[in-house]
Amino acid sequence: MSIQIELENKLGSKPLYQAGNEEIYHALTAMVQERLAATPRIQGDRKLYYVSAEFLMGKLLSNNLINLGMYDEVRKTLAAAGKNLSDIEEIEPEPALGNGGLGRLAACYLDSAATLGLPADGVGLLYHFGLFRQEFWDHKQWEKPEYWLSPTCWAKKTDTRFWVPFPQGELQAVMYDIQVAGYENGVNCLHLFDMETADESIVTRDIDFDKHDISRNLTLFLYPDDSDRAGRLLRVYQQYFMVSASAQLIIKELSQKGYALRDLHKHAVIQINDTHPSMIIPELIRLMQKDGIHMDEAISIVSQTCAYTNHTILAEALEKWPMDYLEEAVPGLVPIIRELDRRVREKFPQNEKLWIIDQGGLVHMANMDIHYGFSVNGVAALHTDILREAELKHFAEVYPEKFNNKTNGVTFRRWLMHCNPQLSDFLTEKIGAGWKKDANGLEKLLEFQDDQEVLGKLLEIKQANKRELCRVMKEKSGVELDPDSVFDIQIKRLHEYKRQQMNALYIIWKYKQIKAGHRPKRPITLLFGAKAAPAYIIAKDIIHLILTLQELIAKDPDVSPWLKVVMVENYNVTWAEKLIPACDISEQISLASKEASGTGNMKFMLNGAVTLGTMDGANVEICDLVGKENICIFGKGSEEVIKLYEEGPGRYTTKDYYPKDKEIAELLDFIISPAVMRLGDPENLGRLYKDMSRKDWFMALLDVKEYIAAKEKLLEQYEDRDAWAKMMLINIAKAGFFSSDRSIAQYNEDIWHLK
Ligand SMILES: *Cc1c(COP(=O)(O)O)cnc(C)c1O
Repeated sequence: MSIQIELENKLGSKPLYQAGNEEIYHALTAMVQERLAATPRIQGDRKLYYVSAEFLMGKLLSNNLINLGMYDEVRKTLAAAGKNLSDIEEIEPEPALGNGGLGRLAACYLDSAATLGLPADGVGLLYHFGLFRQEFWDHKQWEKPEYWLSPTCWAKKTDTRFWVPFPQGELQAVMYDIQVAGYENGVNCLHLFDMETADESIVTRDIDFDKHDISRNLTLFLYPDDSDRAGRLLRVYQQYFMVSASAQLIIKELSQKGYALRDLHKHAVIQINDTHPSMIIPELIRLMQKDGIHMDEAISIVSQTCAYTNHTILAEALEKWPMDYLEEAVPGLVPIIRELDRRVREKFPQNEKLWIIDQGGLVHMANMDIHYGFSVNGVAALHTDILREAELKHFAEVYPEKFNNKTNGVTFRRWLMHCNPQLSDFLTEKIGAGWKKDANGLEKLLEFQDDQEVLGKLLEIKQANKRELCRVMKEKSGVELDPDSVFDIQIKRLHEYKRQQMNALYIIWKYKQIKAGHRPKRPITLLFGAKAAPAYIIAKDIIHLILTLQELIAKDPDVSPWLKVVMVENYNVTWAEKLIPACDISEQISLASKEASGTGNMKFMLNGAVTLGTMDGANVEICDLVGKENICIFGKGSEEVIKLYEEGPGRYTTKDYYPKDKEIAELLDFIISPAVMRLGDPENLGRLYKDMSRKDWFMALLDVKEYIAAKEKLLEQYEDRDAWAKMMLINIAKAGFFSSDRSIAQYNEDIWHLK
């Protein structure tokens, strides 16, 4: 049956051209659901469970069409009926089940594991309102519930249920499944647990709700506000709910396969994605003990089953729970965690840094993962080196064999084939379709690095993508962009270490330059997208500064023809898919040593943007691959930065820059100048100015002058269009290494051993 007939049957025999986009959307999803159901489940004697608090999946319709091999036919069929697939996909709400890179990585990994035919399911929670939906108003971020669930969404309720014990009584976890199709392969599954008793009506204003009644609030939000004790406790409750249901699912599937619990490690491997799922270790031990397995044996089995991925070296992100929280929320795990700690202390009586429970009664979740897991991996070469040599040095010394690196990757199905079909088709035309199955095949493009026609075509595709972004921006935000300007883009969570504030200082510098009559050769468009955690005050102040500068510049006729700043509202995967293909300059400017890897940097490179970045995270590997001539690196390196922190307070001090350095002082003073204060909120601006001029914990002032110079140099290079196109080509050709298919193959080879 042709796809047209199949769709029209689903439309009740209505011809496609007469149907509305919403009807077609539902017909298409029904068709895809049927195909998914008919696609064989990936089987295997040994299975991976990727347990994660976040899965930032993005919209699923197009991705499923690509992976099921129907994309081109559907696109053509719709086009013949005067319909556009991306307009139709507008109907789909994006599930906001993640916060940033970590959740998006989990989604890419599910795609790649299925593509490689590995039996690997994701396990997490079904948050009714996700993280939050961001709105701008008064140049500020406001948080609203992101309601994305509907009976027609991709998550389907199953009959699987588990009871999770809490001191208040047992709560029932209900499992929802999202099918994950591999690219021209079988399907795996993402299992998300919810509660039938979750009560959306307790959300009172914006994202406020009663944090105490866990039978009603447990699965409402990802990362509930943890600025008070009730919020922090709720996170512990959520984590336990997730891992207890996960552990029970894993044990149930093991027994369905006919294996004994003591053979768990032979048939299952659990990847603990950051520390949020760490309690799965004591929970599995608890369940084994209940089944009559002795503590020694339970510990040994679990330690051969669990592997841990570290995603950050920021101290505030390595979770440490006060023992009294655990006693209150998960008393059943406390004696097990104490026993795990006792064994560590017995083995390493002198080495306090290795203990799970510290002198202050804080439970270090990562320490538990490292002792009682068989693998510890970092997510980029530099990050893993820092773990080994600094942050987790004392662990690497006692467990050298556990430490390994798995540089992150992204799925090229979503981040090239789907988001940039023109480039994808052009690459296939030039070098064949081999790269779709083996991304290293992109290197064949290097043969064309001096081919004027190919270089011209790359510029033409970039221009078309920029025009498409202009269209979307006009439609969504009412903002007009100039497609002939340079598009410089910084999109990522808002955090001081990522240094959006340094980019804001560039804006101020450029504004002043233009005011003084130094116009750029070509207009510049600076685009931002970022959500700030609701309780992260300085991050919200940085958003406020950017939005205020946005208006100041838009209203200034001397500057607005040359400089435009736009921060998109509610940055998410859907926005990323539009912004990345249109980007000329990719901003990857984190303070060296602080960004574990980054994956945004990889997506941009793959789509022909040139990176402006520090030697941090995977930027280091990008630089190695493309060579120094095809990336713009600036700023202090990680060794220097680590030294500055080690030498303690006073070693890095803003006094060396402010007010001492006139150029820098002018930029900072501008934040509290009358022109800016009039448009913005003096409280937010004053606080940010104070923080940046007195504390500057992530050292924006250390690198800002080099940053400005580097960006100016890159803008200059942009004017040599042929040379720029060659840089684009080399970046695309060398991006194959960053396919998540490569990452997953390495995880399997070194850690999972699924086949
Ligand atoms: C890729 C991606 C990220 C991660 O970006 P980084 O620059 O690596 O921090 C965050 N959010 C979304 C929506 C993404 O697609």
